[in-house]
Amino acid sequence: MTARPEDYAPALDHAVAHTLAWLASLPDRPVRPRATADELSGVFGGPLQSGPSDAAEVVDLLARQAEPGLMAMPSGRFYGWVIGGTLPAALGADWLVSAWDQNAAMRYSTPATAAIEQAAGEWLLDLLGLPAHADVGFVTGATMANFTGLAAGRQQVLADAGWDLDRDGLTGAPRIRVLVGAERHATVDQALRYLGLGAPVEVPADEQGRIRLDALADELARGSGPVILCLQAGNIHSGAYDDIGAACALAREHGAWVHVDGAFGLWAAASPATRHLMSGHELADSWATDAHKTLNVPYDCGIVAVARPGALAAAMGTQASYLVRTDGGPSDPQDRVPELSRRARGVPVWAALRSLGRSGVADLVERLVRHARALADGISAIEGATVLNDVVFTQVSVSFGDDARTREVTARLLADGTCWMSGSRWQGRDILRVSVSNWSTDDTDVAASLTALHRACEGRAPS
Ligand SMILES: *Cc1c(COP(=O)(O)O)cnc(C)c1O
Repeated sequence: MTARPEDYAPALDHAVAHTLAWLASLPDRPVRPRATADELSGVFGGPLQSGPSDAAEVVDLLARQAEPGLMAMPSGRFYGWVIGGTLPAALGADWLVSAWDQNAAMRYSTPATAAIEQAAGEWLLDLLGLPAHADVGFVTGATMANFTGLAAGRQQVLADAGWDLDRDGLTGAPRIRVLVGAERHATVDQALRYLGLGAPVEVPADEQGRIRLDALADELARGSGPVILCLQAGNIHSGAYDDIGAACALAREHGAWVHVDGAFGLWAAASPATRHLMSGHELADSWATDAHKTLNVPYDCGIVAVARPGALAAAMGTQASYLVRTDGGPSDPQDRVPELSRRARGVPVWAALRSLGRSGVADLVERLVRHARALADGISAIEGATVLNDVVFTQVSVSFGDDARTREVTARLLADGTCWMSGSRWQGRDILRVSVSNWSTDDTDVAASLTALHRACEGRAPS
């Protein structure tokens, strides 16, 4: 069988039409889905058809049947978790990545995507204020970026202690003490589990969720041997930043590897208005962030950067006789990520950065923060509502009184459908949490969302 362009055209044309219809529906559709996964598994499931179906018809069927079960996550009124939308250039680039179908492992075999990702990596280091010589890998998200950065740290601190991890494994190795703030993200623990490092030592946090430096100094002094310190740039409830520069200085005295989880918050470095939140962050050894959150590229795209020369490749490099290496120049993409085969997910990052430019990235970050502050101000004016955090970045945590009342308001808000904010628990109480992470959120979205929140508080139905 020969693939001809006309074999693809109908399926792609239909996909474009469905895509544009979906995007056009975002301003007016309820943000919440109308059907549950259980309802839809009946629609999509059943016995597999006995024979082939037309490609364009399959695309139509998918689009039509999925429609009621789609959450309007790319909407400017979606403030759940920390999700991010998709910039037009990034979406277009993501389609090209699928069409090109490059296995982005090696510079030799896929020079275009290797060069694009190389450029994107250099731009990222510059924008995020990271050392220009750091190695950058494009992974699926911050979970894997944390895993990858911590893996490089595990290898290095063991090597510093005279232990060859590649040869001798973890069994019998010096115990690594991993120190984390009490409010680190749950995926840090997950990454530590993948790495066989066990439960971390929890260092108490302050009222905004920042690691306490006095407690950190005590904990560092308490033991000896290899240490990894995992800091946070952007707490999911408060948006707060650990004092990274000061914590790095303490950690240095103990030869610790410092990793920073900045899944959405590392982007504060891209704006002069928020850069101060991260002062000293360039002193760390490794950093994790997402492109699918603050930068607004499609899923899935996370970024890991490791400063120590060779440390990333030492942890992640693949060796096999059939892999062709180019001599000199940068390492191969496969030496900077856990996988061998993967899509060229750095390409949409390049497109997002190229379309925004330096000022556009700063403006994106500043708008997110401005809208978060506007939402926090509007919410503070609602009777009985309390904003619990200092709104330093994109996150707002709110209580409406006791837990039952907060849950009631949250449920009413989600049923209303105008916007979406997540319920959560923070510092022992139920909260409503707002994350502003979509490039398209504007003043109208903020106003409509505040009106919906007023309605939810008063128990009124949408008019
Ligand atoms: C979202 C998030 C993660 C996990 O990132 P994924 O992209 O979901 O893998 C880790 N840390 C923080 C602070 C986050 O906000």
